[in-house]
Amino acid sequence: MNPHQPAQPPIYTRETECQDCSKCVRYCPVKAIKVADGQARIVPEKCVACGTCVRVCPANAKRVRDDLDPTKRMLLSSDRVYVSLAPSYVSEFPDIPSTQIIAALRKLGFAGVSETALGAQDVSALVAADLAKGENRLYLSSACPAAVTYIQKYLPDLTDSITTVLSPLLSHCTKLREHFGNDIRIVFIGPCGAKKNEADRHPELLDAVITFADLRQWLEDERIHPGALPTTPEDRFVPETSQEGALYPVEGGMIETIRLQGGCDNVRCITVAGINGIRHVLSGFKPKSLPQPLFMELLACRGGCINGPCAELREGNLDQWQEVIARADVPAAPVHRVPRNDIIETIIDEPLPTRKYNDEQLRQALRLIDKEKIEDELNCGGCGYETCRDFAEAILSGHAEASMCLSYLRRQAQRKANALLHCIPSAIVLVDKDLRVVDCNRQFAELFSDDLAEAYDMCPGLKGAVLEHILPFTKLFKQVFDSGATLQHDALHVDDRIYQVTIFPIEPSQITGGVISDITAHEMPREMIAKRAREVIHKNLKTVQEIACRLGENMADTEILLRSLAEGFSPSQPVDDDSNDKD
Ligand code: SF4
Ligand code: SF4
Ligand code: SF4
Repeated sequence: MNPHQPAQPPIYTRETECQDCSKCVRYCPVKAIKVADGQARIVPEKCVACGTCVRVCPANAKRVRDDLDPTKRMLLSSDRVYVSLAPSYVSEFPDIPSTQIIAALRKLGFAGVSETALGAQDVSALVAADLAKGENRLYLSSACPAAVTYIQKYLPDLTDSITTVLSPLLSHCTKLREHFGNDIRIVFIGPCGAKKNEADRHPELLDAVITFADLRQWLEDERIHPGALPTTPEDRFVPETSQEGALYPVEGGMIETIRLQGGCDNVRCITVAGINGIRHVLSGFKPKSLPQPLFMELLACRGGCINGPCAELREGNLDQWQEVIARADVPAAPVHRVPRNDIIETIIDEPLPTRKYNDEQLRQALRLIDKEKIEDELNCGGCGYETCRDFAEAILSGHAEASMCLSYLRRQAQRKANALLHCIPSAIVLVDKDLRVVDCNRQFAELFSDDLAEAYDMCPGLKGAVLEHILPFTKLFKQVFDSGATLQHDALHVDDRIYQVTIFPIEPSQITGGVISDITAHEMPREMIAKRAREVIHKNLKTVQEIACRLGENMADTEILLRSLAEGFSPSQPVDDDSNDKD
């Protein structure tokens, strides 16, 4: 293992944030995401670091590794640290002149700022020289590290077709080291997460990669506003300014720079962008002789790097594209750069171990998700996999869970609901906003008439039946639709019956459910007891009133007696306090 290898891969999942929605699985072009225990984790060996999951995750749980801390530590050391700035900076900071961007980076502590586009020009010169040899075969570009990793891992037979040249970034690093000395440190700043793989694999050339998003945050933290900075003559790109290499961040830009080298008129060139696009074009292609040299510019990001996963402005729109073209200093005539032989590199394949499952194993996995027959295999893609069989393979390899299949989940839910609906002793009915039955159990039909029970047997669920024709208290359902609140009656008297009724919203304004029990049989004895109790209470009340009357009479007699006694004493003969003692 590389001792410089960071503990975290370039793209990772912040597990506490994952909401288990499987969106990243649906969008990951190589299904490098394993779902287990409600977590969607990246499988690093399968990941090509295209950054798609980072872009689509609604919970911001998929992240690009943050290498700001090691970068800041480098700047605190005595080392000279140079920036390799991605040419897409012009679309990232469209209103800020390059001199102010350079001034801001130098203020952060970098020794100098250089354009990755310089490395791109060298790559184009070497590729053009190769193409000019006129071999009638396929050439695949090595510029986009995510696309290269995809070929190495998923189309390994085509790895030999990748041009034998370092990527523009690594070529640039060699150029900077040649110019400023091998003891310098280099930090790439751009819109790309896959470049972190390049730093991890080539720590001898590239020290760290930070994204435009990281840079924005850093500048903000340091209260550096590039657009407001004064500049000096030192605020210029080193060791020189790029020319045609600045076209690289847009789709087709690399091809244009190759053509500018001259000598490639006989070469057919096409751009394929997006990992899915690359798969569609190249899957099944066997390297063979072609009628003429065919060069393919492969890019993981549609629209090119200006639409990279860590670009703040995500839309690879025409304005951004034009900004790149307008600010590139493209020579009018062929440039004929001298190819650099020190940037030749042979890329080797890294095929993934594949496991084939036999028919019986697949059938068992399909059964787990209720796919008994071929017609059950909807291939809807809801699970994130192209076909039900791909999904079954993912289940077998432990990368997916049955619960990711939406049709299976729906059936499961339906089954559970049905079991509840039909086993519960109470009558249950679901009605829509037009007060028509959506579903009900037989107990509901039995509750209101024998005819209805018969109708139920012919049409289970009574779907579409008008509630008003069945129930004598339809207005209660209407009330629940209107109020959105649950309504409960412990003893609803309707004619000679007593019902216990609970009506509750299921989908507000759409579906309401009712649970109804006929409690007449239970309630009657209670009613009778209550009636007897009321009679007893009534009688008791009478008795109490009589007692009270009599008590009142006795009180009156006592009062008369006391008054007559009191009148026997004269007011001049006060009663002594201790008179009782004397007696
Ligand atoms: S997109 Fe993936 S990582 Fe993000 S919340 Fe959904 S399952 Fe989790
Ligand atoms: S970075 Fe790309 S390949 Fe890796 S898990 Fe995310 S979407 Fe898949
Ligand atoms: S297209 Fe550019 S930004 Fe996107 S992965 Fe490739 S190199 Fe990175």
